[in-house]
This record gives sequence, structure tokens and C-alpha cells, in this order.
Amino acid sequence: MARVVMREVRPGEVPKDGGTAVQEDPDRPVFHGNGPDDFVCAGCGNVLAAAMDAGYMTYRVRVRCAAAAGR
Ligand SMILES: [Zn+2]
Repeated sequence: MARVVMREVRPGEVPKDGGTAVQEDPDRPVFHGNGPDDFVCAGCGNVLAAAMDAGYMTYRVRVRCAAAAGR
């Protein structure tokens, strides 16, 4: 399983119909799938989405990290 660092989103980069998932517990990824990769926070390395397919993790999917030292 590979570990992919999610890129930080710049203002204006995300489509208006895109959504943001908010992680409530830093120990529990927001998404859990059956794909090949874990997606981790760009700032702190916390796992935000586990076992996801890269094709699903597009710019429409944003996750707000719950770690206190987030970003
Ligand atoms: Zn983080």
C-alpha cells in the first residue's frame, strides 16, 4: 500500500460543487475504501483517507485534518 500526501488546495482551485469532509477524530480516516493507497495530510502526515483509489480522490474531495497541529 502506498502513502500519498494530499496536496494543499489553493483558493479558487476547487469547483463550487466540491465538498469538504471534516475529520472529527485524528485517529480515524474520513474515508475508507478498497483501493491501493492511503492519503495523508500535507501538513502533518495524519491519515485522512485509508485504502482509497486515486481516481476517487480528485480536487472535488477535500478533507479538513483534525490533528491539533494540522496543516
Ligand atoms: Zn494535518
